[in-house]
Amino acid sequence: MDRSKILFKLVDVSFYYVPERVALNSVSIEVKEGESIGILGPNGSGKSTLLKILDGLLFPQRGKIFFEGKELTEKNFEDPSFNRYFRRKVVLLFQNVDAMLFSPTVRDELAFGLFQIGYSDSEIENKIMECSRKFRIEKLLNRSPFQLSEGEKKKVALASLLIIDPDVILLDEPTNELDPRSVRELLSYIKELRTAGKTIVTATHDLQMVNGFFDRIFVMNEEKKIVKVGDYETIFSDREFLKEVNLI
Ligand code: ADP
Repeated sequence: MDRSKILFKLVDVSFYYVPERVALNSVSIEVKEGESIGILGPNGSGKSTLLKILDGLLFPQRGKIFFEGKELTEKNFEDPSFNRYFRRKVVLLFQNVDAMLFSPTVRDELAFGLFQIGYSDSEIENKIMECSRKFRIEKLLNRSPFQLSEGEKKKVALASLLIIDPDVILLDEPTNELDPRSVRELLSYIKELRTAGKTIVTATHDLQMVNGFFDRIFVMNEEKKIVKVGDYETIFSDREFLKEVNLI
C-alpha cells in the first residue's frame, strides 16, 4: 500500500438527476490509498450520490472524476478489461441492500462475484466456507437472501462484496437499521479492513461511527457541497459549525 498514491480525484464535480436541481455541487476532493474517509451530512446532502459517482454508477454532468489517473466515463466503462479491473477493485454497499441481492440462495449470492472472476468450483466452495465462517452466516447459506432479517441481509451483502477481496470499499449508511450487536460486528469488520490497508469511504450520520474510524471527514451541507474537510478533532471541536450543518 502506498499512502501517498491518489486513488480518486474529483475536479469540480456536479451531478443532476433532474435538470436545474443539483444533487452534488462542485465537489473537488482526493482520496488516497489506504485512507478511511467519512462523509457526514444531513439527509439529502448528496452523500449517496457522491458514493455512486465514486463507484462508477453515475457520471457527472460537470467536472471530472479520475480513478488511478483514468477518467471515469461511460465510454471508458465500455472497455471490458477496464470494467473488470475497476469492478474487482471497487465495491459499494448500498444503503438499501435489497437492491443488491438477487440470487436464490445466500450461497449463490456469495459465489456470483467469484464465478465472474473465473474461480474454479472448488476454489469458490473454499472461499464461501471461509467467508461465511468469518461473517457467521454459515447457517444461512441455503436460505433465500430475501427471507432474512435486515441485519442478516446486510451481512450477506457485505460478505458478497468482500469475498472478492476488493481494495476500495464504499459504504452507504452501513449501520442503518441494525441492532446494537450487529452494529458492533459491522464496526469490527470495518476496523479489520482498515488495518488490512483497504481504502474505505463511508457515508453515515451515525455519530457513534465517527470517532476513531476516519482519517479524514468530509462534511456536506444542504447545498450538496463539501463544506469542510478535516480529522475528527478538527470537525467535532466546532459545535457551532456542527449545528449549522444540522449534524447535532
Ligand atoms: P444523502 O445520501 O445525503 O441523503 P442523496 O445523494 O441521496 O443524499 O440525495 C441528494 C439529492 O438528490 C437530494 O436532493 C435528493 O432528493 C436527490 N435525489 C437522490 N436520488 C434521486 C433520484 N433518483 N432522482 C431524483 N433526485 C434524487
